[in-house]
Amino acid sequence: MGRYTGPACKLCRREMTKLFLKGDRCKTASCSFERRSFPPGDHGLRPKKLTNYGMQLREKQKVKRLYGLLEKQFRNTFFMASSMRGVTGEMLLQLLERRLDNVVYRMGLASSRDAARQMVAHGQIRVNGRKYDIPSYFVKINDEISLSPKMQENPLVMESLESAEKNQAAPYWLSMDFKKQKAQVLSYPKREDIEYEIQDHLIVELYSK
Ligand code: SF4
Repeated sequence: MGRYTGPACKLCRREMTKLFLKGDRCKTASCSFERRSFPPGDHGLRPKKLTNYGMQLREKQKVKRLYGLLEKQFRNTFFMASSMRGVTGEMLLQLLERRLDNVVYRMGLASSRDAARQMVAHGQIRVNGRKYDIPSYFVKINDEISLSPKMQENPLVMESLESAEKNQAAPYWLSMDFKKQKAQVLSYPKREDIEYEIQDHLIVELYSK
């Protein structure tokens, strides 16, 4: 299972938006993008006019990096979305949100998608009581997501959950039980439930060439 291991903040600067890849640090003044909100590299400060293709490519890279996927995984998800009933761009966002690592993050069990992905890969997540260690598993309606007994007392998880409960961060399509540290999938996320500004039509145009 491949993943990007380079500097995370550079990705935010490249995409010119905060992708929240580093957990709590992203909400503080130490966020690199707050201090240097221009693309990395020697010509980062030089204004650049993007072509149509450039805009499509940047939007795809942004979403791919936001969810922590590599090109092949993202492309496969796109083609799965295009074979589903419904608007392809919306189905793509729905599939990305339904990934188990994303759900763990949205539940507030981890402070970033990367940390959530590690929890899943290390076998710390249960789906309907059974161990699931595949971050790309797409949750289904009525699935119950919970923690392994070992993680239930983990101070980082408890702190992250406390903050999620205080900020009411869990999306409405997940029924979150903070005391029992588990959630049930009530419905599939809709376009308007995505908390980022994403122009999915640009990604569809890019892959339709
Ligand atoms: Fe992006 Fe800022 Fe988080 Fe770094 S700290 S990953 S620049 S949001």
